[in-house]
Amino acid sequence: MITLKEALALNKEEIVKLRSDLKTKIEEKKEIGAYIEQLQNKPIAEFGEGIPIAIKDNIQVNGWNVTSGSNILQGYVAPYNATVIDNMLSHGLAPFGRANMDEFAMGSSTESSFYGKTLNPHNTSCVPGGSSGGSAAAVAAGIAVAALGSDTGGSIRQPAAFCGCVGMKPTYGKVSRYGLASYSSSLDQIGPITQNVEDAAILYDIIAGHEVKDSTSANIAHEKVSDKLDSQRKLTIAVIENYVEETDEEIKNTTKAAIKALEDAGHKIVYKNLTNSKYDIATYYVIAAAEASANFSRYDGVRYGNRAESTNLKEMYNKTRSEGFGEEVKRRILLGTFVLSSGYYDAYYIKAQKARHFIKSQFEEILNEADLIFAPVTPTTAFEFGSKSDPLEMYLQDIYTISVNLAGLPAISLPIGFDSKNMPIGAQFIGHAYGEQALFDGALSLEKILKK
Ligand code: GLN
Repeated sequence: MITLKEALALNKEEIVKLRSDLKTKIEEKKEIGAYIEQLQNKPIAEFGEGIPIAIKDNIQVNGWNVTSGSNILQGYVAPYNATVIDNMLSHGLAPFGRANMDEFAMGSSTESSFYGKTLNPHNTSCVPGGSSGGSAAAVAAGIAVAALGSDTGGSIRQPAAFCGCVGMKPTYGKVSRYGLASYSSSLDQIGPITQNVEDAAILYDIIAGHEVKDSTSANIAHEKVSDKLDSQRKLTIAVIENYVEETDEEIKNTTKAAIKALEDAGHKIVYKNLTNSKYDIATYYVIAAAEASANFSRYDGVRYGNRAESTNLKEMYNKTRSEGFGEEVKRRILLGTFVLSSGYYDAYYIKAQKARHFIKSQFEEILNEADLIFAPVTPTTAFEFGSKSDPLEMYLQDIYTISVNLAGLPAISLPIGFDSKNMPIGAQFIGHAYGEQALFDGALSLEKILKK
């Protein structure tokens, strides 16, 4: 597939041809299930002259169905564009198809979508990761030039790692959440999933910037990173040694080889530990579930999408929500309502906020001595469908990614090799808040070294 950088040099006719070729290719690779087929007809036909970008199904595109992979939003049509979509359109890019996802971005495997699963293009018996599994699978299968995903606790980086592509989560507030269906408002960020680091920088530049309509958007001028990329810049990189040691043997060895390559290329490597990972999962699932339970009260059968047949108001709320939400979403709403209820608020929610503060300060301590942090993305490579039936086991997938969202920092996952079953292995750089330039420079440097 042509890269985003190359696509930006095409003329109008060439782009129209690219879009129609892509349609044929998607048809050929239908079994991957990267795009939500039921929502395709309209999306693919529209915006005929922009470079086609796959859009996760939780991002609003004016006039299109937006369902967040959920039954409860069936029939909902977005009345406006998300800021990222308007930014894309003004740069010659156009939305192309709805990428499949875990219902409401809750999950790490794209198995919980109402539309069925997405397959990993490297091995169709394995998951593509999640929740932005459709976006990553589309890029990996060569049926998207690039894609947008969202990352609340790893949902861009983990599927990118499982599918062998690049996935970037911006600093909290750098990319507007206006028009993104909220899951956990203090953690969610939209970001690019691409074929290489440079494309990620280009797409990040296009979607980033202040949005007055979004109070969580950072009110600072966006400084372009893609035209200043410097893979020769020497950086101090803090390796999270305990994460590297804990991870699966093959990931460990490949990560160590990447660290050696970074050192040989002239970067300064220092070794640090993050001892908070035992708190990360608990903290995240209290905060994310609490925010989700509040955000999801809007899905009541009155305002959006599906409405269950009923004889009175209470029954309508009950039936709409019982029928519309899947199992994992219900679990999180229950958990979130519980931790916010009086009597438990101090014990769980307030405690989680304190733990979040502590996690952030541990990152700050390390970043006081380094430009970047380097760590694994996942404890294993892509697993088989159905192999994680216990929710807690699925939650552990995010052990190396969620703390980054809790701290609001930017991070990028990129491929660093394959395991013995030929499944991709990823690694992530984590940067200072608003330190995207160093983040992309470091990632580009590693990508170049590994290509040699
Ligand atoms: N897997 C995590 C969850 O289920 C993260 C999801 C995400 O980043 N959207 O909440």
